Amino acid sequence: MISRRIVVVGGGAAGFFAAIAVAESAPGAEVLLLERTANFLAKVKISGGGRCNVTHACFNGREFTTRYPRGERALIAPFQQFQASDTVAWFAARGVELKTEPDGRMFPITDDSQTIIDCLVTAALKAGVKLHAQCGVEGITRTAAGGFALTLSTGKILECDGVLLATGGCRTPALGQLAVSLGHTLEAPVPSLFTFQIAIPWLRALAGVSVETVELTVPGAKLRERGPLLVTHWGLSGPAVLRLSAWGARSLQACNYQFPLLVNWLPAWNEETLAAELQRRRLAHPAKMVTNAPVAPLSARLWEQLVAASGLAPDTRWTALGRAGQHQLIQQLLRTAFLVTGKSLNKDEFVTCGGVRLSEVSFKTMESKVCPGLYFAGEVLDVDGITGGFNFQAAWTTGWLAGRAMAGA
Ligand SMILES: Cc1cc2nc3c(=O)[nH]c(=O)nc-3n(C[C@H](O)[C@H](O)[C@H](O)COP(=O)(O)OP(=O)(O)OC[C@H]3O[C@@H](n4cnc5c(N)ncnc54)[C@H](O)[C@@H]3O)c2cc1C
Repeated sequence: MISRRIVVVGGGAAGFFAAIAVAESAPGAEVLLLERTANFLAKVKISGGGRCNVTHACFNGREFTTRYPRGERALIAPFQQFQASDTVAWFAARGVELKTEPDGRMFPITDDSQTIIDCLVTAALKAGVKLHAQCGVEGITRTAAGGFALTLSTGKILECDGVLLATGGCRTPALGQLAVSLGHTLEAPVPSLFTFQIAIPWLRALAGVSVETVELTVPGAKLRERGPLLVTHWGLSGPAVLRLSAWGARSLQACNYQFPLLVNWLPAWNEETLAAELQRRRLAHPAKMVTNAPVAPLSARLWEQLVAASGLAPDTRWTALGRAGQHQLIQQLLRTAFLVTGKSLNKDEFVTCGGVRLSEVSFKTMESKVCPGLYFAGEVLDVDGITGGFNFQAAWTTGWLAGRAMAGA
């Protein structure tokens, strides 16, 4: 006999995890998963370049939370319940093994996001979840009996006892309207995880060059990030840029994505050690040209452009590098100043900063504090992480917690 009807709105990562958790923990409940598009798990499919970066190999829940520009404090308790090691075990128990890459990102050993989709769909069907595609929820009201009435895109009205909103990032305020109609507040949506446009010809000439570790600073904005950098046809990308964009999602939007950026190409060096190294070269190879002797680990191509950008003539020899020339070169290596003139979408991963206000949700159960019986999971909340599997982990954790709580487990 069906005791209760639970509806999960949104067939993405969070919705599937929640629906499976409810159905597995409360076998008597009828669980419906409604997706407005034709395809479930569309973002999982394209995630991680088609490989799905499922989570990150950091198994200390508290440390894990430090990777969330929005949601760090709220996620402390949830990660005590379900963290990255639980995700690994969850998938392993359903026949999917994950592997760890040197930078900590975890992928299915098949390197194919379809493996994750197949696993989630199979687990949902096995647990008895009823999957409905092309079935959007257009409105939700409370019923006199304390349940909910959902207006569907098919024109039908569906009544239920509990609703979980897992509708994904509220890229536009309209996408958060279901939550707002039930009394919630949306933190204004702005993009996170974007790359920087820089219109400097010598930089663009370096498109394709990557540097293992740089330090980026946005002066005056308290934004500083170390990590790999990639030069692109439009400016700068790579993990260091994406992380900086996540931490600065709001402040960089406030200046319309026009801001100064300093790049330290050699963060392992400082002015003194670099001056000593240049002096050593001047004495050891006085007749050699500066432009032909890159300081490790910079590539020959990058070094050549940095030397030119510092104002030195291409044929300058070490012996002719005077005090002023050395000072200019050191400044260029440790503090290249660029003007960022806009942002570009990062095709590998982008998320929305903003969403349902966190103080209105209990992170013990993921239940709304303003509308009992309503639950939230995933990116619809004002939670977003840096790249590396952190966004899916937030979806798995909040989905699992919400599902268990809705099941009364
Ligand atoms: C290109 C790309 C690559 C990414 N790669 C990674 C990665 O490798 N690792 C990582 O951790 N993160 C990655 N992310 C981020 C990650 O995909 C999201 O954070 C995650 O998908 C959020 O899950 P969700 O279930 O909350 O939302 P979504 O995956 O967006 O799912 C929400 C679902 O709800 C449906 N929906 C919305 N409104 C309604 C409605 N009214 N009625 C019914 N259905 C509705 C939507 O159609 C959608 O299917 C990537 C993002 C992008 C864009």
